[in-house]
Amino acid sequence: HSGFVAIVGRPNVGKSTFMNYVIGQKIAIMSNVPQTTRNKIQGIYTTDKEQIIFIDTPGIHKAHNKLGDFMVQSSLSTLNEVDAVMFMISANEERGAGDDFIIERLKQIKKPVYLIINKIDLINPNKLLEIMDNYKDALNWKEVIPISATQGNNVSELIDTLAAEL
Ligand code: GDP
Ligand code: MG
Repeated sequence: HSGFVAIVGRPNVGKSTFMNYVIGQKIAIMSNVPQTTRNKIQGIYTTDKEQIIFIDTPGIHKAHNKLGDFMVQSSLSTLNEVDAVMFMISANEERGAGDDFIIERLKQIKKPVYLIINKIDLINPNKLLEIMDNYKDALNWKEVIPISATQGNNVSELIDTLAAEL
């Protein structure tokens, strides 16, 4: 079980926190890919049975200039190189244009996309059902997985789910 997983989502949903949590738990390496330091940060999760290389792709948003457009294109090309995608949202923020912009891009790739609802420590369970309902028709999700990247809730289950697919 080994492969590449891209993490996408609007700013502040917890992509970096998730990477740091995973890396803090297991033998892992954080490295920048030299050519694309701006938007490819990798974290390698390794056990004796599995290896998942996480790629944080912060650059997917509406571009306002040529550099921005280059970064968006670069992040989008990353999505074509990975085995699966984690689309991360924050449980305590409303769905917005930033989310929908990324979802539109995800519709164009033929990879399994997991909806990761992060920051569940900040909400009550009723709210979680509401969020799931808000997003269920947005994309053909491979699976919907709630987590807390700061508390570590459900993170090992998420990793097991990903590893089983790789
Ligand atoms: P990114 O922009 O998607 O990489 O988001 P960050 O990882 O930088 O996180 C943005 C903020 O959200 C930081 O202040 C984190 O501490 C906080 N955060 C991330 N994950 C969680 C979580 O599961 N629960 C809570 N309460 N805060 C979180
Ligand atoms: Mg970040």
